[in-house]
Amino acid sequence: MSAQIINGKEIVSSYRAEIKEEVQSLAAQGIQPGLAVIIVGEDPASLVYVRNKAKACEEAGMYSEVHRLPENTTEAELLRLIRQLNGNPRIHGILVQSPLPKHISEERVVEEIAVEKDVDCFHPVNVGNVTIGKDAPLPCTPAGVIQILKKINVPIAGKHAVVVGRSNIVGKPMALLLLREHATVTVCHSRTPNMEEITRQADILVAAVGKAKLIKKHHVKPGAVVIDVGINRLETGKLAGDVDFDDVLETAGYVTPVPGCVGPMTITMLLRNTLEAAKRSAQAQPAVKA
Ligand code: NDP
Repeated sequence: MSAQIINGKEIVSSYRAEIKEEVQSLAAQGIQPGLAVIIVGEDPASLVYVRNKAKACEEAGMYSEVHRLPENTTEAELLRLIRQLNGNPRIHGILVQSPLPKHISEERVVEEIAVEKDVDCFHPVNVGNVTIGKDAPLPCTPAGVIQILKKINVPIAGKHAVVVGRSNIVGKPMALLLLREHATVTVCHSRTPNMEEITRQADILVAAVGKAKLIKKHHVKPGAVVIDVGINRLETGKLAGDVDFDDVLETAGYVTPVPGCVGPMTITMLLRNTLEAAKRSAQAQPAVKA
């Protein structure tokens, strides 16, 4: 039996249509959600990501501004810009595209973003709130994965979910959100011996490693749902996930394609977090006319 390929395009477009409708109804109240994206330097992949985020905002009817700063921007200059955006009522979400140049501390930068505008959920206060189950923006990539599972009606509660990768951006928050959905969660990483013995027990297997085609059919339990977060550029110039897509097709029950599923869903969750931040700010103060 061949795996069902999860239709990322369909899921993303239906989710974005819901967001657009909500943006339109907010517009009737004179509120337009606004996202500021900051990029430092000329990393080509980052420039593409930033463009995609700004375009998605516009398509959803949101306001967006991109701040392109040169590679030699100082940490103090970047922090000053963040403080300005923190105080700008037109902006409800602030995102600083990583990676930053080495002379700038990502940790310091994230901590400068106002907690209520941290739509990436990287600020330690938001990370803490998500961890203890308090209301907070959910980290975009893991939240996107949960939405994908829900859209295809995969039960999560009581299932064994295995996450490969333990980064602060994907692996750890992914494990946390799966736990919040009542999965039994195991996390594997580079020091996990005999990883396939663990991944083969997974009903839901999430790969967030950054190694092209690492996950093969011998890692996958027959019928498992395989979610591929990885985005790797091959020597041919093509993109590949962390899962060897063709190899797992006969074994998995469901599999996500790369590109075209988790990536655009991550941007969709960024839109959702910006929209929610705008709603919270409208409740807290009088409307700012778009
Ligand atoms: P990191 O490099 O920060 O983390 C990679 C993780 O994988 C680490 O925990 C590492 O373990 C683990 N790892 C490395 N090699 C192995 C191995 N052989 N076996 C098991 N585990 C291993 O990467 P990110 O989490 O930031 O990103 C992961 C992937 O997801 C990348 O391809 C990235 O491009 C992609 N990504 C995609 C997004 C999207 O929107 N679709 C968003 C963000 C990332 P250890 O901790 O022991 O070193």
